Amino acid sequence: MPVLDEVLAANERYAASFELGELALPPARGFAILTCMDARLDPAKYAGLREGDAHVIRNAGGRASDDAIRSLVISYKLLGTSEWFVIHHTDCGMEFFSNDTISGLLASSLDTAALGPDGFYDVGDSPGSDAGADIDWLTISDQSQAVIHDIVRIRTHPLVPARIPVHGFLYDVRTGRLVEVPGAADAGRAR
Ligand code: ZN
Repeated sequence: MPVLDEVLAANERYAASFELGELALPPARGFAILTCMDARLDPAKYAGLREGDAHVIRNAGGRASDDAIRSLVISYKLLGTSEWFVIHHTDCGMEFFSNDTISGLLASSLDTAALGPDGFYDVGDSPGSDAGADIDWLTISDQSQAVIHDIVRIRTHPLVPARIPVHGFLYDVRTGRLVEVPGAADAGRAR
């Protein structure tokens, strides 16, 4: 079945027994999670969330990008969250390339690259674009350092109040376990 039909069929089943139409807009449990878009991660399952519980902000790497911070600021200022988590994970795709790598691949073609033992390489023959060079792709060279970096960026942002604790974890894709990043508790402590 084509993906579009699968998604619409799944939604039909979901909506058929839907009983959550009266949920409040602010997250009931008052917290937010910033995490990676990786398909192996299901924040609702790994953190025990139901609809209406928490904000989940996702992007490639779970990085504290300007847009992630935009969402976090809205999350506390307008919707009352008071505790945040930054959750990256093992085996993240963002470890496997650099800004130069992806910019080069995009300049070569807009087809999907292949991943070999030496990293990504381009196999396409469509025209590329050098616009990728203008983007900071927020790649990761050290997972723990990236979590600390993102916590510090959030913690020290002028629009983030000192009272919000920012917890830092790595999700282990082999075990499903959240492992606290050393130093994260200090870096993200409420002040
Ligand atoms: Zn990832």
